[in-house]
Amino acid sequence: MCNDSLTGTYRVRSPTQTRTPKIVSEVQVHSRNHSKSCKKGNVECRFGFPKLPMDKMILTYDTPSPDEEDGNDDDNDGVKDDNEEQSRRGNEAKSAGKKKAALVKKQREARDKLKPLRNLLCDPNASFDTLTELLEKCNLTHQQYLDAVFDLTIGSVLYIKRRPNDCCINAYNPVLLRAWNANMDIQYVIDDYSCMAYMMSYLSKPEHEMTEHLKSVVSDVKQRNVNERDEMI
Ligand SMILES: [Zn+2]
Repeated sequence: MCNDSLTGTYRVRSPTQTRTPKIVSEVQVHSRNHSKSCKKGNVECRFGFPKLPMDKMILTYDTPSPDEEDGNDDDNDGVKDDNEEQSRRGNEAKSAGKKKAALVKKQREARDKLKPLRNLLCDPNASFDTLTELLEKCNLTHQQYLDAVFDLTIGSVLYIKRRPNDCCINAYNPVLLRAWNANMDIQYVIDDYSCMAYMMSYLSKPEHEMTEHLKSVVSDVKQRNVNERDEMI
């Protein structure tokens, strides 16, 4: 699958495909106002909108801290006395605590750095054709932007090629979208376990939970001027 087939930007290549952009605007656009189901816990939008723009597809990865790179060369070469074992466990707990605190700090700083950019992406009156244009407005270089994105993410996350103006378009495959003719959120599977856990959570979802969810969707749509499709996502 090439980059373009996953991007929110669909290029009209032939007359037979001119219908696709209409489908995209009808079913793939996430409301900038979000919906009730977007808010969960402290997260503003649990679906991750607006999505961060990228000039090309990138895959983030964890960068190990220096002490992790050193590795643990503490070979268990015999019986250790209790004091030594306790001290080792204490040091491990201390080290884990420090790492967690450093991670939280790093993510908070990255979030702060990206806040002006996110605000502009959420602004219905703002429009940026290119990432460069957007970054200039936020006084960020490409490298600073990428560093913040890496700092913000844990593990491997795929960021697809996307223009700033496409930040609220869900990822799709043009061919599948035409066949499916409804909203999709296509994603690469880069973690087998996460994929299985995701499927199992749906398979094991109690029916009454789904019924309650659908009831709340209907009630919310009636009360507010919310796009019904957004509520269902
Ligand atoms: Zn949302």
